[in-house]
Amino acid sequence: MGKFRGINMEYENKDICRVCKKKCCKKCGCDYYVEDFEVINKESMIKILDTGNVSVVSSMVIKDLKKEERTITPFLYLRARNVGRDVIDLLSLKRQCLMLKKDGCSYSLKDRPSGGVNFIPQEDFKCKRCDDPLEEIRKWEPYQNLLYKMVRRYAHMSVDERFKLDVLNLFVDILNENFEGVVEEEIKDVLSCLTNLSMCFPEEFECAKRKCLLTSKVLRSI
Ligand code: SF4
Ligand code: SF4
Repeated sequence: MGKFRGINMEYENKDICRVCKKKCCKKCGCDYYVEDFEVINKESMIKILDTGNVSVVSSMVIKDLKKEERTITPFLYLRARNVGRDVIDLLSLKRQCLMLKKDGCSYSLKDRPSGGVNFIPQEDFKCKRCDDPLEEIRKWEPYQNLLYKMVRRYAHMSVDERFKLDVLNLFVDILNENFEGVVEEEIKDVLSCLTNLSMCFPEEFECAKRKCLLTSKVLRSI
């Protein structure tokens, strides 16, 4: 079945997406599934990352330790790159996908990341997924070591160091309300994570506050 989950399914409807004005692709690039690759090894990862169209990204794994104490660790996978973002983009405000052009996605359906293929346009714009995106992300588990090495190769630092740096930059962007090119839904999503992030990364939060104007609206609302 490959990336096409159901037979006789209309995976693409450019007319509906035109009317919607490509809302999903403006929010963020779509996810690569492990099945998008014939083989996943050092060579295939370098090859795709060197295209400039893909980033190593992360989903946050939040663990409660004891009362008021929790940790956040990044779980790595690949996604179509967002405009202005780096090959290593573990945490940032999501922006429009780099592959979105005037006429829609630059990729043919066959070459498109499965996360995009499996988001099925609907006339009422309540577009449907054929799969559980979190389950698909979890399938990157056996490749975490390899992706950690990719972070080291491209960012010249460990995942831990890079994640902390990205957290700091995200705090700065939020506190400065640097929301250009970021859709409302993403701003809401990221603000909903702010309490957890500031609890788990207090040093980075304090550092970001020092870097930002204390008149920031967001800062006053915390
Ligand atoms: S898939 Fe749905 S949300 Fe995405 S552009 Fe098409 S209609 Fe809009
Ligand atoms: S790769 Fe194509 S379908 Fe996926 S988010 Fe980018 S423009 Fe949209």
